[in-house]
Amino acid sequence: MPSSTPWGRDADQEVTCIACGETLAREDAREYDKHGDRWNREDKTFEYLCKPCDRACCHQPRDGLEATLVAADAGRTDRKTFLRRFCELTTDDTEPNWPES
Ligand SMILES: [Zn+2]
Repeated sequence: MPSSTPWGRDADQEVTCIACGETLAREDAREYDKHGDRWNREDKTFEYLCKPCDRACCHQPRDGLEATLVAADAGRTDRKTFLRRFCELTTDDTEPNWPES
């Protein structure tokens, strides 16, 4: 496999929603940059949200989402743990319906 920048070829690329873990076509995903400056693409891995989660996130203050991502150790823990924490943090008022491993 030749190494290439992941954003060099957008077509037919699949991404994973950071909120629910759903895999979807990149063109159908909303780009989410937890660092807040999506124009600086150096040495960064972009996060993606599927449209339902993107809508859900828009219902809460942006600052709250950032805090939630930080609290969930975004980028500092493995993806499975992060997703689990993120879901728990974003569903305070409902029982997290996450399959036990
Ligand atoms: Zn999602």
